Amino acid sequence: MSGASVKVAVRVRPFNSRETSKESKCIIQMQGNSTSIINPKNPKEAPKSFSFDYSYWSHTSPEDPCFASQNRVYNDIGKEMLLHAFEGYNVCIFAYGQTGAGKSYTMMGKQEESQAGIIPQLCEELFEKINDNCNEEMSYSVEVSYMEIYCERVRDLLNPKNKGNLRVREHPLLGPYVEDLSKLAVTSYTDIADLMDAGNKARTVAATNMNETSSRSHAVFTIVFTQKKHDNETNLSTEKVSKISLVDLAGSERADSTGAKGTRLKEGANINKSLTTLGKVISALAEVVSFILHYKGSCVYSANILGDILLLSVKVVLLWPFM
Ligand code: ADP
Repeated sequence: MSGASVKVAVRVRPFNSRETSKESKCIIQMQGNSTSIINPKNPKEAPKSFSFDYSYWSHTSPEDPCFASQNRVYNDIGKEMLLHAFEGYNVCIFAYGQTGAGKSYTMMGKQEESQAGIIPQLCEELFEKINDNCNEEMSYSVEVSYMEIYCERVRDLLNPKNKGNLRVREHPLLGPYVEDLSKLAVTSYTDIADLMDAGNKARTVAATNMNETSSRSHAVFTIVFTQKKHDNETNLSTEKVSKISLVDLAGSERADSTGAKGTRLKEGANINKSLTTLGKVISALAEVVSFILHYKGSCVYSANILGDILLLSVKVVLLWPFM
């Protein structure tokens, strides 16, 4: 396994029309992998600087040589994760950030040419690689599932008629899994795109003061990918199974900035609880993988569904879009 097990990228998006009309000022600066934040109340104060594995500047127009296109983000992050999946690792890519910060744009992107996000680009390359490598010796199978975690309840986005709360259980060898979650076999990128479209339509969204279509649920798209190798000489077959988890997290905004009350406030509390747990899981992963085993036994582990489902992923990228 080359490089770190957990990588973090940060991305700045362009101003939206509301910010432009208010003549907002950008308080982020990026240089190489370093990102600095200027204190808007005291611009003379030294900016606070942070280092990330990747810093993506998308604040200006695509003509700016520093502008990080969807392709560049995929080439840095998605390609590497796909490579690790082919090596047999479980991989996971999250997008974390406030509603409107650019999570869905980074993960899913837009239909227009060159605006496809990490998920469609990764799925397309997965099948390109399978088609290139498929032969008498090697065969591949791909299955996908798509679920939503909303207020600590798990819903199957590929079988939305099943309105129940799916249970998260633990297999002694294979680890955590979601009972009765549909796993559908796919043979092409178009199959995946169709299922993702159907799942996205079923996703729970509710308006908040921040953004009318702000997503209040975590969406977890999982690709289980099996590589079978048959040795003609010995007539023996071996199998390598990898899981690719692609996660569009719910907005990380603070409850007081959304003006939320009642159900919205409860949603926010659940989102914050799960994001805090997720942060702890990622910190644990970043320290040493063996620490996961210890972590599994702690109460934090069983306190939250999102952490449970994703804990077994070993290569993780956390994408952190800024607004
Ligand atoms: P989130 O999923 O975090 O709520 P979105 O991905 O929906 O946010 O982004 C909000 C808006 O900003 C969308 O209209 C999206 O197209 C735009 N946007 C976000 N990031 C970028 C970017 N890097 N470049 C161009 N437009 C972006």
